[in-house]
Amino acid sequence: MFLEIKSIEKYYGTGENRTKVLKGITTGVEKGKICVLLGPSGSGKSTLLNIIGGIEKADGGSISIDGSKIEDMNEKQLSLYRRNHLGYVFQFYNLIPNLTVKENIEVGAFLSKNPLDTDELLHTLGLWEHKDKVPSQLSGGQQQRTSIGRAIVKNPDILLCDEPTGALDYKTSKDILKLIETINQKYGNTVIIVTHNDAIKLMADKVIKLRDGNIRKEYENTEKVNAE
Ligand code: ADP
Ligand code: ADP
Repeated sequence: MFLEIKSIEKYYGTGENRTKVLKGITTGVEKGKICVLLGPSGSGKSTLLNIIGGIEKADGGSISIDGSKIEDMNEKQLSLYRRNHLGYVFQFYNLIPNLTVKENIEVGAFLSKNPLDTDELLHTLGLWEHKDKVPSQLSGGQQQRTSIGRAIVKNPDILLCDEPTGALDYKTSKDILKLIETINQKYGNTVIIVTHNDAIKLMADKVIKLRDGNIRKEYENTEKVNAE
């Protein structure tokens, strides 16, 4: 298994307020697949994503990616892991306001070993005509496309998306999901999408449902359909 998640536990708070938000998560994702992490708000989805992303540390258990255990990495190794292997897409884009679309995307390529060609990527993203605009001149969908570009330009093994359509209308959300799918097919990145939007499971190879820090249900989606 490319991504192996074993008995992951996470606590927040101290003393009386100490609560276990991940209660021993064990699962895995194969290379190049799209995995959707579903569950109600507060079920632990973002926490799990952030642990996979090396942003938060688990209190127990193990995560290995292509054989490397992230809990064994020191800070320097973790930052290299994030830089070379991971792309992150957030609900609210987090673009740099005074940089253009093209420059925001190039930020993602900074220090990367194997960056994609920015101009080709701008075309794939449908942003070529907008490459010299700054974020305030863009629609929400275009801002999210830019943020996907910044995440993907280093050609990461894993693309982590935290509610990528959470701030977008129905039609724009569909366009963004379609784009994520196109990127997955073109570059072969393993994709993990955290969402509370049940409809997104249709495009997934694997669906994992969390509730109260446990896996409630998981399955391979044999009826996967293309996002449209
Ligand atoms: P989801 O992404 O499914 O909405 P989260 O992973 O964000 O769930 O949160 C899981 C639980 O952990 C929630 O009860 C939330 O309140 C709590 N939590 C998340 N982040 C923190 C934090 N930094 N400090 C304390 N509690 C947190
Ligand atoms: P999309 O292609 O994401 O559906 P729209 O059709 O909503 O974009 O927008 C068309 C054009 O209007 C865009 O090229 C963008 O420059 C501009 N635009 C849209 N929304 C905004 C906004 N909130 N602020 C500034 N410009 C916007």
